Amino acid sequence: MPTYLATSTVNRADAEVLVVHCSDHRFQAGIREFLDQGLHLGDNYDLLIIPGGPQCLTLVEYLPKFSWVGGKWFRYLVEKHDLKRLILVAHQECGWYRSLPLHLHTSTIPRERQEEDLRRAHRALMKDFPELQVELYYAGWDGADHVSIESISI
Ligand SMILES: [Zn+2]
Repeated sequence: MPTYLATSTVNRADAEVLVVHCSDHRFQAGIREFLDQGLHLGDNYDLLIIPGGPQCLTLVEYLPKFSWVGGKWFRYLVEKHDLKRLILVAHQECGWYRSLPLHLHTSTIPRERQEEDLRRAHRALMKDFPELQVELYYAGWDGADHVSIESISI
């Protein structure tokens, strides 16, 4: 393939937002649409997309190296890019959670485990970054397979 030239140009505006979500391909387009059109972020946000998404910001005792690197990436982006707002998105049927032992959470119900982690991540990050505005979301789908994203209380 010859060089691909995008119609998009380099975005030179500063971002103030970090979005953390899972790698699962089923949700990428829906989450991107939510960020662009639902939250009107345009493309002015940094992204941290890894399996399990926000879960990397919790569970220090179970996967310490995983948590360490998640924290390292997070700190790098927030401090170097002077970010002000954090958006954490968990999603329905996240395969990453099937790989985690059940004793790590107070509930065995997948969605409750994920919401617990969203709140854990929020509490942990507030200690080091009290100025950061944090928003929690859960992505699923409706009866017509449209991605639906709802806000989760902190
Ligand atoms: Zn996932």
